[in-house]
Amino acid sequence: MRLVLLGPPMAGKGTQASILAERFGLLHIAMGDLLRDSVAADTSLGRKAKKYMDAGALVPDAIVIGLIEGKLKTTNSEKGFILDGFPRTVAQAKQLEEFTDVDLVLCLEIAFNRLVERATGRRICRSCGAVYHMKNNPPKKPNVCDRDQGKLYSRNDDNAKVVQERLRAYEAQTRPVINYYSSREKLKFVDSDVSIEEVGNRLVNTILDRWPHLETEIKPAPEQEAAPSAEPLKTKEARKGRGTRRQHGRGRRGNVGKSRGIRGS
Ligand code: AMP
Repeated sequence: MRLVLLGPPMAGKGTQASILAERFGLLHIAMGDLLRDSVAADTSLGRKAKKYMDAGALVPDAIVIGLIEGKLKTTNSEKGFILDGFPRTVAQAKQLEEFTDVDLVLCLEIAFNRLVERATGRRICRSCGAVYHMKNNPPKKPNVCDRDQGKLYSRNDDNAKVVQERLRAYEAQTRPVINYYSSREKLKFVDSDVSIEEVGNRLVNTILDRWPHLETEIKPAPEQEAAPSAEPLKTKEARKGRGTRRQHGRGRRGNVGKSRGIRGS
């Protein structure tokens, strides 16, 4: 199963890709995380990428294509993979075809005016990666993680000005990717202005429509904690298992785990 997850910034790609990866046993490759890792490691690639990321612009194709190629070549993805945040330009989509086929492209849809609020309110714990939202899911103490008292920070590119720029880049450079896959009949849209659980249900059902035999193999949905996470599983730390528990005895298709007060981003 070779999946691509498209959608504007803050539509919930990271959250949903993590959930789908876990449920279907896929390798999750998040281009934003690969780039942030390079920035954190202060590599020359990271230093180059940072200035584009901080400005809300796309990092040049040559850099991200090199990263994805390396990742696909060096990691084992027996059951397949889900690409989150790649491709974001038609040149990237074409290059991807040189490395591998893509079976299905899922595109999250949400009105842009809902996204700025999601981004600017987002706060992340530096130590455990839990994600809060200042309005929808604030921590008990300002700027302190409820879970481990870690300090909360806002991503450099989550301020209103940069978010507008990221949306502009999406419209100009990534919208054509949607058309590219649509003309190849690989594209399915999923409305993502609903709860994380509901978006998850819709994505799972879309995948099972394409591969019905997987219905018996899919793992149950993770049960999501009410807090502290406005956006559970989004970060690398959270993906390693913190912030989720397995749900018990629920249906597999749809009916994703219960949660209280979690909002998607
Ligand atoms: P994300 O975490 O997916 O929101 O990505 C954060 C930032 O990383 C984006 O705003 C871009 O600056 C950069 N980025 C991520 N994926 C790509 C890509 N496929 N092509 C170019 N830049 C990217």
